[in-house]
Amino acid sequence: MTYFVGLTGGIGSGKSTVATLFAELGVPVIDTDAISHQLTKPVGAAIGAIRNTFGDNYIDASGALDRAKMRQLVFTDANARLLLEKILHPLILAQARTQAEAISAPYVILVIPLLFETADYQGWLNRTLTVDCAEETQIARVLSRSGLSEQTVRAIMSRQLSREQRLKLADDAIRNDDSLIELRREVFELNQRYLSLAKISN
Ligand code: ADP
Repeated sequence: MTYFVGLTGGIGSGKSTVATLFAELGVPVIDTDAISHQLTKPVGAAIGAIRNTFGDNYIDASGALDRAKMRQLVFTDANARLLLEKILHPLILAQARTQAEAISAPYVILVIPLLFETADYQGWLNRTLTVDCAEETQIARVLSRSGLSEQTVRAIMSRQLSREQRLKLADDAIRNDDSLIELRREVFELNQRYLSLAKISN
């Protein structure tokens, strides 16, 4: 039986970077954020339902979800956020399960940004890992990576669990305040640990 490790962390904490480092060690990675992007690209599987529920206004000229507009809406309208989640979450979960079924490996990393904010993955994961760094570092990283404003990044962070909450809930934590060399070393050690845990669980 494959062992599943859920990888989470706040926006800009370094989830994708950590996932890439695991992948470099040969660990299969399923990224629910990437699945969500696939579902909402032009003719993605969620586009029809999003159009039916929210109208053409939320679909851009290319036929993809208009992310900026939708982000704006779900920040101010909790009901709209629930509706969007109701469309996306089951599709993301189903796709993640399909990808998982095709993998044969001792363990798999599942990247789930809102792991502890949703109940979707409880009962599936064997272990959880959170990436943690200073909030100011998160903000600086996101600002240099994307076109989001600081205000938007702070608003996104305020909707996510706090660092303390995530650290309390996760089985393991990986610090990402230092260099990528240090991060790679931490991932190397965790990989050893997960390989042994996966072995024991079988
Ligand atoms: P997340 O997936 O959690 O939103 P990312 O892995 O995309 O975060 O990291 C956000 C940005 O910060 C990326 O541009 C990434 O290259 C950079 N980054 C992540 N960790 C480090 C680090 N230890 N040192 C320097 N840059 C980093």
